[in-house]
Amino acid sequence: MQYFTRLSALALLTAIGLALPAISRAASPVSPHNTANTIRLEPDHPDSFRHFAPELPKMLARVPPLDPDTGLYVGEIEPGLYFVTDHIYQSAFLVTKDGIVVFDAPPSFAERLRPVIEATAPGVPITHLIMSHGHTDHVGGTIVFADLPDLTVIAADKVAQSLASRQHPNILQPTKTFDDSLDLSIGGVPIALKTTNFHAEDQDVMIYLPDQEFLMAIDTITPGEVPFMNFGATTDVGAYFAMFDTVLAYDFKHFLSGHVSVPGTREDVVIARDYAFDVRNRVQQGMAGFQDRFLQAFTLFDFKNGNLAYRQAIESVRDECAAGLIDTWKDELSAVDVWADSHCEYTVLYYVMH
Ligand SMILES: [Zn+2]
Repeated sequence: MQYFTRLSALALLTAIGLALPAISRAASPVSPHNTANTIRLEPDHPDSFRHFAPELPKMLARVPPLDPDTGLYVGEIEPGLYFVTDHIYQSAFLVTKDGIVVFDAPPSFAERLRPVIEATAPGVPITHLIMSHGHTDHVGGTIVFADLPDLTVIAADKVAQSLASRQHPNILQPTKTFDDSLDLSIGGVPIALKTTNFHAEDQDVMIYLPDQEFLMAIDTITPGEVPFMNFGATTDVGAYFAMFDTVLAYDFKHFLSGHVSVPGTREDVVIARDYAFDVRNRVQQGMAGFQDRFLQAFTLFDFKNGNLAYRQAIESVRDECAAGLIDTWKDELSAVDVWADSHCEYTVLYYVMH
């Protein structure tokens, strides 16, 4: 009963308002923002897809054109270093005097990637394949290189262990592994590999080419856009936030993050860091009153449904966070109204536990 004495009439009204978001939203003719909790196809629904903002023109202006024959864009970002995208995934390859190094082979375009490489550097053998991490959507096309008997397939130790246990039919097994770091020189080009953890359940690898000022850290950011759901579906939100210091400690101007069409820059990483830290700050502010939010809802529910009250408390922090993010970032990053709620909710869960 002590809970009732803690609730003022105003707080109760607030709790009622918080508890009835669906009703209040349905009564509103047009939502100022759809925070993307649900996306309805009905054009007149308050959560209709029509209430999402279009992609920002300044992001679209950066999208490189696809070759109509291959459905790929292949750009030489530094002499001998090529960036490849199908507008959904990204990879890269490096042509050296001794052979070609391929960085990841997404299944969405791996079959087209190999002829593109061979057409770009006729007669140069493909000697190395370096895996950023073990997720199928980035290395699930490596099977297209299975006929190269001398190919060195490089991955982090834990990734190799995961791949050995998975035995995915379209992913080559690594032939050379490393624990902490591996410094290579292929055809005279230095390549520095460093293991870290910001995304995958086992290990991630930073791939750095200092001479080209090129850094590849897959599933980190999406240049011009907010990150994909749950910060690129990271397995560890805290490690994701910490990743920005690790990335920005490198001296680079080209950044390859693995997704969508736009090649990244150092400035893209800085903007993505500021966005991620904004999410973190908003959630931390909301979590300061988390118990009060829970008790308000739990009281309204006559202390009969703790799960529902907990969900309501999570949603209230999430929705405040998402609405603030959309207002702040809608002219800076595309798709903030699509993914902000996931970033907020995932961060709420993190701070429930940390
Ligand atoms: Zn991944």
